[in-house]
Amino acid sequence: MARKRAAGKSKGSTTKANGTAKGTKYVYLFGAKTDGNGTMKPLLGGKGANLAEMCRIGLPVPPGFTMTTEVCTYYYQHKRTYPPALRPQMETGLAAIERKTGKKFGDLKNPLLVSVRSGARDSMPGMMDTILNLGLNDQTVEALARKTSNARFAWDCYRRFIQMYGDVVLGVQKGAGEDHEPFETVIEGLKHERYHQDIEDTKLTVDDLKELVARFKRLVKERAGRDFPASPWDQLMGAVGAVFGSWMNDRAIVYRRKYNIPTEWGTAVNVQAMVYGNTGEKSGSGVAFTRNPANGAKEFYGEFLINAQGEDVVAGVRTPEPVSQLKNHLPKAYQELERIRQTLEKHFKDVQDFEFTIEDGIVYMLQTRNGKRTAMAALKFSIDMHKEKLIDWKTAVMRNPADQFEQLLAPVFDTAEVVKAKVIATGLPAGPGAASGQIYLNADRAVGAAEKGQPVLLVRLETSPEDLRGMIAAEGILTARGGVSSHAALVARQMGKVCVCGASALDVDYQARTVSVDGQAFKEGDWMSIDGTSGKVFAGRVKTAPSEIVAGLINDDETAKKTEKFKNFQQLMKWCDQATRMGVRTNADTPEQALNAIAFGASGIGLTRTEHMFFEGDRIDAMREMILAETLEARKAALAKLLPYQRDDFAGIFRALNGFPATIRFLDPPLHEFLPQTDEQQKDLSKKLGLPVNVIHSRVAQLHEFNPMLGFRGCRLGIGYPEISAMQARAVFEAAAIVQKEGIKVRPEIMIPLVGFKKELDLQLEVVHQAAREVQQEQRVKLTYSVGTMIEIPRGALMADEIAQSAEFFSFGTNDLTQTALGMSRDDSGSFLPQYAELEIIKKNPFATIDVTGVGQLVDIGVKRGRATRKDLKIGICGEHGGDPDSIRFFEQVGLDYVSASPFRVPVARLAAAQAALVK
Ligand code: ADP
Ligand code: MG
Ligand code: MG
Repeated sequence: MARKRAAGKSKGSTTKANGTAKGTKYVYLFGAKTDGNGTMKPLLGGKGANLAEMCRIGLPVPPGFTMTTEVCTYYYQHKRTYPPALRPQMETGLAAIERKTGKKFGDLKNPLLVSVRSGARDSMPGMMDTILNLGLNDQTVEALARKTSNARFAWDCYRRFIQMYGDVVLGVQKGAGEDHEPFETVIEGLKHERYHQDIEDTKLTVDDLKELVARFKRLVKERAGRDFPASPWDQLMGAVGAVFGSWMNDRAIVYRRKYNIPTEWGTAVNVQAMVYGNTGEKSGSGVAFTRNPANGAKEFYGEFLINAQGEDVVAGVRTPEPVSQLKNHLPKAYQELERIRQTLEKHFKDVQDFEFTIEDGIVYMLQTRNGKRTAMAALKFSIDMHKEKLIDWKTAVMRNPADQFEQLLAPVFDTAEVVKAKVIATGLPAGPGAASGQIYLNADRAVGAAEKGQPVLLVRLETSPEDLRGMIAAEGILTARGGVSSHAALVARQMGKVCVCGASALDVDYQARTVSVDGQAFKEGDWMSIDGTSGKVFAGRVKTAPSEIVAGLINDDETAKKTEKFKNFQQLMKWCDQATRMGVRTNADTPEQALNAIAFGASGIGLTRTEHMFFEGDRIDAMREMILAETLEARKAALAKLLPYQRDDFAGIFRALNGFPATIRFLDPPLHEFLPQTDEQQKDLSKKLGLPVNVIHSRVAQLHEFNPMLGFRGCRLGIGYPEISAMQARAVFEAAAIVQKEGIKVRPEIMIPLVGFKKELDLQLEVVHQAAREVQQEQRVKLTYSVGTMIEIPRGALMADEIAQSAEFFSFGTNDLTQTALGMSRDDSGSFLPQYAELEIIKKNPFATIDVTGVGQLVDIGVKRGRATRKDLKIGICGEHGGDPDSIRFFEQVGLDYVSASPFRVPVARLAAAQAALVK
């Protein structure tokens, strides 16, 4: 009864509003009849939604059903139990699969086997394990053997099933002190017992497989303390529980944290009729991309294994063949896959990453999703697909992930150096770029070395999700086994790591912690280099050279400019300019930095920190003399020494900017930062300045503050010592006069830091305007300049209406604004922020990505109140957040005029600003 009702109800309700528990639709069919579609990823997970979508466009998908993410939510809200309506809906779903396939679950004539597959909204590679061949027991295995007249195949399925189920559901896994998976140890033992050597799994006979099944069951009994479940329904419910349970396992949590996936999303579970890639030589399994996801080339890319189930391909146990080879083995199936490749791209209008199985020559589709790609491939895909008229230019802009974009500027090996380097092995190019580092063979040691500041290459036989931390820490990843769709390759591509896979010449010895090749042994800590674009592995350290984009833009290298990568980049940037509303400026303290930023497309400086200029050469001595001065006269004398330095620096910057505006921030940090702190340094200074050591010592002590971040700094310095601001203003205007006389337009914007009260700004304004008047008179020039303020403490944002009466522009200093709004020192947050992230108190590091809901309100208030007073108030942002794509999206929304980022982040900011404008 209940069964019928659930099935009847299921028809209409395809949306999220699923009503009361009783009427809720938890199970969505695909294949037999298709309830869902590709837009339903939040409910059906990425895998389930796209399986439904593939059914809808007529691709061959084995029938199945998806249990929604709402079941997962329910499961965790109800002490890991299921909604009562679930079981009857599952029974209905299974019945539909049975009808479609003509097989029956647990049947003794023609048994239906299923796979149980997890599927979160976003794919989480390797995080949750799939169980294949579920439904087998001592009776159904015989039935399967009879039905297919292929006992070898049936028993191969059975041993695979016990192995996977034992591992994933029953927890029979590698223990501490074990080097291998216990099931693999059993297999190896049997091979040596019977054949005295390692043979391929495909060579195992029926009798071998039967013996393995028996031994596997004993192993399960021993380790799990119970018999392997024989009832197919018990097996099914156990597997479903394991998938939902895995949403909270450590690996999944680490992954979610890294990619900011909310825990609430939950995972769906897919149950799907098995198709068999392991029935013999006319069968196989594979993974493919519609185009090359490493370099972007328009070619069918991927790999397959004959006579194998899908897990074999990704696990890296056997090394697969490139998909182009399938032509020779199974030409018909290859043609069909080519057809599918076209269909997928035409329909999804994006590069697809798909999984397939061939059963006796017939192709089945098991998964498709938008393929993860390197920044280089993303760029080429977007430009090519626009040329092919698959997408418009706006979509092309959106297709380039802004947070990966900096990869394009990453170094490549220096061409002169690389020809001299010794190639020791070649593997598959799986993540482009050049990396040089000291090798480590395990994740923990790799992390340890990276924490000490060493560049690290993680070298593994093959990687698994446990290696994730090590992969994050490493500059590059090198494996001896596995192909381009192995775990290592997948994760590397996503993280933008340089990666070479399957360099089979390498002999990786975990025990001895060595990598040997051709009789040469490399120990942990030795240098190696890898080229993730060609797949080459080099001994030692190889010098790197700038990417073609950097070479073309900054070094004006003509050869670089002719490369496709360079041209594609320029095309994309042109589109970005068409889309963008906000300007992109740069944070630069030197003419060189300014020139680089302009080459990358910056339209001015958003922040010049003048204090950086006080540290070079002997300037620091004059600076110290100024700070130590006890009288106004003495201070002015010291300042007079600093003036020419500052003037020259500003002149250099104005020339570099060639007419673009420069926001110049006056002295900001607490003075003690400039003074020598150790006895030794103080003695040194005493000699240089001819001052007694004790004077220096007591002045340093006097300047000591309990909380310098909130102390005598920012405009408070300029108010306490107006002569400092006067000197800085004079330096700016004298430089402006000089450069203007050279015929170059100059646009200084003087920025007073840390203002919370209008009066603070007014006092500084007087000093600045006074200097401007004097210089203009002395030099007989007319200068165009403006004076504004940095909004970086909450009071400044709240009082923005009043402050805007005096300020001609605002620039949000979001670093300090975050520190002061959160009451959290950036430099001290390391001791508790990691735990905050773990507990999800804070979703993202607020110093990297602006805390939109909290600090964001202050920005919003500052903008609104400031513009209420001064309608055309120019507002920018110059914190670290100016180069962060998520933050940039927010700044677009609140209507800032520009963001400012460090020179090498300028392209990222341009792309992010364009995307923000397009999605608005
Ligand atoms: P992952 O998310 O780790 O890729 P999948 O659920 O996609 O896990 O399963 C991994 C592989 O298992 C698939 O690529 C496919 O080869 C195989 N597989 C899954 N379901 C089936 C099925 N119904 N029939 C045959 N093979 C399957
Ligand atoms: Mg998959
Ligand atoms: Mg500040």
